[in-house]
This record gives sequence, structure tokens and C-alpha cells, in this order.
Amino acid sequence: MIKVFLNEDEIPKKWYNLAADLPTPMLPPLGPDGKPVSPDMLAPVFPMNLIEQEVSQERWIDIPEGILELLYRWRPSPLQRAVNLEKALGTPARIYFKNESLSPAGSHKPNTAVAQAWYNKEFGIKKLVTETGAGQWGSALSFACALLGLECKVYMVRISFDQKPFRKVMMETWGAKCIPSPSPETKAGRDVLEKNPDTPGSLGIAISEAIEEAVTDETGKTRYSLGSVLNHVMLHQTIIGLEAKKQLQKFGEKKVDVVIGCAGGGSNFAGLSFPFMADKINGEKIEIIPVEPASCPTLTKAPFVYDHGDIARMTPLLPMYSLGHSFVPSPIHAGGLRYHGMSPLVSQAVVEGLATPLAINQLECYSAAMLFAKTEGIIVAPETSHAVAAAIRKAREAKEEGKARVIIFNLSGHGLMDLYGYDAYMQGKLKDYEMSKDEVHDSLAEIKGYPKAEMRKTGKW
Ligand SMILES: *Cc1c(COP(=O)(O)O)cnc(C)c1O
Repeated sequence: MIKVFLNEDEIPKKWYNLAADLPTPMLPPLGPDGKPVSPDMLAPVFPMNLIEQEVSQERWIDIPEGILELLYRWRPSPLQRAVNLEKALGTPARIYFKNESLSPAGSHKPNTAVAQAWYNKEFGIKKLVTETGAGQWGSALSFACALLGLECKVYMVRISFDQKPFRKVMMETWGAKCIPSPSPETKAGRDVLEKNPDTPGSLGIAISEAIEEAVTDETGKTRYSLGSVLNHVMLHQTIIGLEAKKQLQKFGEKKVDVVIGCAGGGSNFAGLSFPFMADKINGEKIEIIPVEPASCPTLTKAPFVYDHGDIARMTPLLPMYSLGHSFVPSPIHAGGLRYHGMSPLVSQAVVEGLATPLAINQLECYSAAMLFAKTEGIIVAPETSHAVAAAIRKAREAKEEGKARVIIFNLSGHGLMDLYGYDAYMQGKLKDYEMSKDEVHDSLAEIKGYPKAEMRKTGKW
């Protein structure tokens, strides 16, 4: 047996909220005055039902029937054993991957996109606005809005807009409007264009434009939507790990040794790993690894601080590992992992020692992705290649130690829209960019006067 599917009626009916079980509670987000933000301060940006989820301390949160019906279109997703990769490596380890690439948009992102669109619609919202870097989140939200009949507008970072024209076509096919950012349609965009008409754009500028459009709509029927980082996004993704636990049981596995996910804003990693982290908190021995690019080493080289989620400093100050909100990452191909911050929930799990991060260079990642494509047949997203590389490292370790470890990783998306990176790799044009301690130090200069984030932990892990 190499694959386990679940029946539709075996889909998890509740999401798991790690906030309820963290051994030391998270620090609150802070407003511009340095005081904790209250839920109503976020009301112009997000609908109240999602804000309630954002601050919830309930361990289990019911998935509404209306959202389950949307998820059934592609869920439950299969859990597969990478037997051919195991053979090629000659490892005694058993390697499993949860295949999130089978969603209509090609990644895990629709898991939260359909939930967010559904809650917004429930709240009476007619239009969602968002930003997208590489285009994966913009596609996922466009898809979700199409299913629910919501209007959708996506500000896409100009350089990606020009380099990845097919992403825009996907979004438009689902009925969304996709425009390059900076644009003349917002004050934030016009300000940037006036100073620098040829700018390639950035995620920070695109976020500012999207939030501005949402909060200035006078009908009050427009909101903003974010594809990662926030607590409610991590929550919606836990369906991945909850399904995976049932599937591992059907494979006959009694114990998992290693859980791996690539980490940009943290959502696919959290989605697979948080349900396993609950077991770790309850005494099981599991190694849980978020993997990031060596060129954007948020968890492995940056400090735990209070910082903004965007360059324009429109978001509250979040307690997280951060390279500084105006950090501009090297042009690696894993666009979805080029983010300066990290989900506060994932950050607190790392502070506590429940997760042990790893940074890997892009050449090793592409080499791993090539081996995976040649053995298992799936061409993974450049982001996902980080998880594949870590799984291969762990399988080789198991071989050296002669131990039959059980390794599971999240196959967060396919790479069929990102073949330029593979082409560049095969032509020998890619290189590694490793960020030095000095560069990290310089990148953090701008947040010097910010409130300090205390690293609180039990010391148990
Ligand atoms: C967006 C994306 C990521 C990174 O985002 P996270 O929130 O860290 O999961 C990883 N893999 C794929 C395929 C993506 O589209």
C-alpha cells in the first residue's frame, strides 16, 4: 500500500487551535501606541467572525457545514508513501508526504481561502482585496471568491506580474481582477510611482494598497484577506495534519519521528505540524522541523522581536521572528518563502523549543526536487523543495544510524507554474545566497526602538 485516501465523511469536522495548548501563552499584538490592540481596531480590515477566531483560545473550533462542502471539492487529500524515493536513497526510513498540490489552485492555500471567503460572505461582505507575490495566494483567493460569488481584486507585485503572466490568467479565469502593484489606483501606489515610476514593486507596497482599498470603501462591504502568518490562517490549515494523523493510522504507523514543512509565513508548516505538536506537548518524542531558505533565515538567524507585517507599517506590531519589515530578500525562486516575518504561533512554538528550524540553500533544494521528480514523478513547487531536501537529509541520517524512522512532510504545492526555476537550475544559472550575521544585523536597524518581545518558555523542550 502506498496511498491512503479518506472518505468524504472521514474529513475532520473541527480545526485544532494550538493557542489553547501552548505551554506559555503568546504575547499580544501591539498598536502604534505600544498597547495591545483590541478586536474592534481590526474591524475595518477583517470581518468580526474571523477576528474572533484570530483571538480564540478554544482548542477545537467547528468547521461550518458550508465550508466542508467547499473543501470536499478536493479534500480529503491523499497521504502517500514515497517508496521510490526511499529505494533510491537506500534508507530504512519510511517517508510519507501529504499531497496538497491537488487542490484546484495547486497548493495548500485554498484551505484557508475558501474558509475566509465563506466567513466574509456570512458577514455580508461583497468584495475581498488582497496582495500576491508569486501569485499562489492571489490564485487561491480568486478561486474561493468564484465559488462563493464574491468580487475579488488582487494587487500583484509588478515584477511577478510581468514574469508570470499565466498566474494573472488563472485569476482572471476565476473572475478576479489582477493589477500590477504599485498602481495609480491607491494613494500608497501613487506615492511610490511618483518617486520611482520604474519600481519592480514589493509585497510591502502591495499589502499597503490592498489594505487601503479595503478600508476606504465607503459602502463598508469590502475587506482585506491575508494568506498566511495570522492565527486564523494557521487554524484553517490544521485540517492537513488532522487528516494525516488518521491516514498514518491506516498505514499502521503507531508513531511519527519527524514532521517537516517549508516555512514562509508558516501556514503549511503549521497546518501539518500543529496536530502533532499537541502530542509532543503531551509527552511524545517528535522532531518538528520548519525549513526556510538560507537566503531568508527568519527562524534560524533573526531575533524574536515585535515588528510590523508590512513595509508600510499598516499592520499591528506582531511578536515574531523577523528580519525587519523592510528586508528585501535575494531573488531566489521560492517566492513564497521570501517573507521577513513568521507566524506568531509558529514563532512561539520555536521559542518554546517545540519546533527546531533548519535553513537550506537553494541548490540543495533543487537537487532534492530533481531526485523527487525522477523517483516519485511529482514536480514540486520551489517552496516545497525545501521540505523535500530536509526529508532527504533526515532519511540519510536514518540510513547512517540504521534506524527505520518515520518521516512525514507536507507537499505544499506543485511547481508546474514555476518551471523557470527548474530551467535555470538545469542550465547551471542558479547560485546560493546565504545571509550573514552582519547582514541580519543591518537589516534589523530600523526596528531598534520598538517594544521588546520577551522570550517566555517553560524550558521543557
Ligand atoms: C505560499 C506557499 C508557501 C509558503 O507559505 P506558508 O504560509 O509558509 O505555507 C509554501 N509552499 C507553497 C506551494 C506556497 O504556495
